[in-house]
Amino acid sequence: MVNDLEQILLTKEEIGEKVKELGARITDDYKDCDLVVVGILKGALMFMADLIRYIKIPVLMDFAVVSSYGVSTDTSGVVRILKDLDQPIEGRHVLIVEDIVDTGLTMHYLVRNLEARKPLSIKVCTLLDKPSRRKVEFKPDYCGFSIADKFVVGYGLDYAEYYRNLPEVGVLKEEVYNKCC
Ligand code: 5GP
Repeated sequence: MVNDLEQILLTKEEIGEKVKELGARITDDYKDCDLVVVGILKGALMFMADLIRYIKIPVLMDFAVVSSYGVSTDTSGVVRILKDLDQPIEGRHVLIVEDIVDTGLTMHYLVRNLEARKPLSIKVCTLLDKPSRRKVEFKPDYCGFSIADKFVVGYGLDYAEYYRNLPEVGVLKEEVYNKCC
């Protein structure tokens, strides 16, 4: 799998250190809060699993599935909730955990959708951010790494559903796109 990468952007050690740091900040910021951590599947699976182990306060965990790119590497701009939260968030603090913010459309839509449910607060923690790709104004509250405009895979992020189990984050070789799907 790692042989399909043209470049490793983030090693598992770099990711691990950053996740630990984010967990400590979140622990500090949400002391004595009723916090629901919402992971966005499937991309945030690894990040969520690692991050919550560094959040040292009791939290509720929930998950949502939001429509994403399918097998293409370009965004459609249409956002849909395919699986909603299991629990009410009214009167609670919500932290959305996302793999990557790209155009910002998904988070912009989701935050507004969840705001209508009257939580005490909503913040977004993303592992990766591609600020140069924004189509709507959106700034994550917590961000692991700001990266350039490149399509990345690994640590939960896929290409055509593959590469999620790669421990690193990297850029695929051009030839992989040509042979796959
Ligand atoms: P946005 O709505 O911000 O454009 O896109 C958010 C979603 O697009 C992410 O949750 C992710 O599923 C997908 N995405 C955006 N950039 C990348 C990328 O570089 N690699 C992968 N695998 N998915 C991406």
